[in-house]
Amino acid sequence: MTEPSAGAGGADLRAMVIAACRELTRRGLTHGTSGNVSVRCDERRFFVSPTGMDYEVLQAADVPLMDLDGRWFGRRRPSSEWRFHRDIFNSRHDVSAIVHTHSPRATALACTGRGIPAFHYMVAVAGGRDIRCAPYHAFGTQELSDAALAALKDRKACLLANHGVIATGADLAGALLLAGEVENLALQYSVALSLGEVRILDETEMCRVIEKFRTYGQQNAADPDLIFGGAQPGAVEGS
Ligand code: 13P
Ligand code: ZN
Repeated sequence: MTEPSAGAGGADLRAMVIAACRELTRRGLTHGTSGNVSVRCDERRFFVSPTGMDYEVLQAADVPLMDLDGRWFGRRRPSSEWRFHRDIFNSRHDVSAIVHTHSPRATALACTGRGIPAFHYMVAVAGGRDIRCAPYHAFGTQELSDAALAALKDRKACLLANHGVIATGADLAGALLLAGEVENLALQYSVALSLGEVRILDETEMCRVIEKFRTYGQQNAADPDLIFGGAQPGAVEGS
């Protein structure tokens, strides 16, 4: 079967998958060929990293195209985790990119079966008041995909017991950033656990934080106590 056209953006999307795979290694979020990356191409198709390939040698033509029926096109077989990539794209229309890692701190935490509770307000970056840990199932299985989907309900990221992390986003940059945040939170939580009793923020506070995140970082965010005093004296506009 010949590969159907992936549209004008296909070449760019393949290059973005390869760049994201290399970023995983560069940011210390994965080792060797572990982890995988995908990006939505259209309503029913996505590009996904090939299975078991060294990220450094990947070429555009090594990145398979898949559809939601589980059909793949290209010269390399897709990631062994194609089921959870397919199932997330199928059921989560807010997601256009997925990153799966075996990042060390988050994976270590997942090996204790723990998720990440609201020990720090930044847990809200994953969309809710905790980051769940899906129960263990063998890699590449439908059981793992089903468990991951449940753990991702109303969330953008989850841990996978005895395995790693899934982070999603509206684009690959966002999914990569979130994978890094989960790793950082896992490190902080592990250190806090080693120090003694960890204080967990309550639901009311986390609802407040989630609300604050809706406008966080935006230039026009409302703050009744903050007064704009004009341009800085002597500053050149635009520099
Ligand atoms: P793939 O090389 O098949 O993507 O597998 C890596 C992995 O992390 C499996 O969970
Ligand atoms: Zn994995």
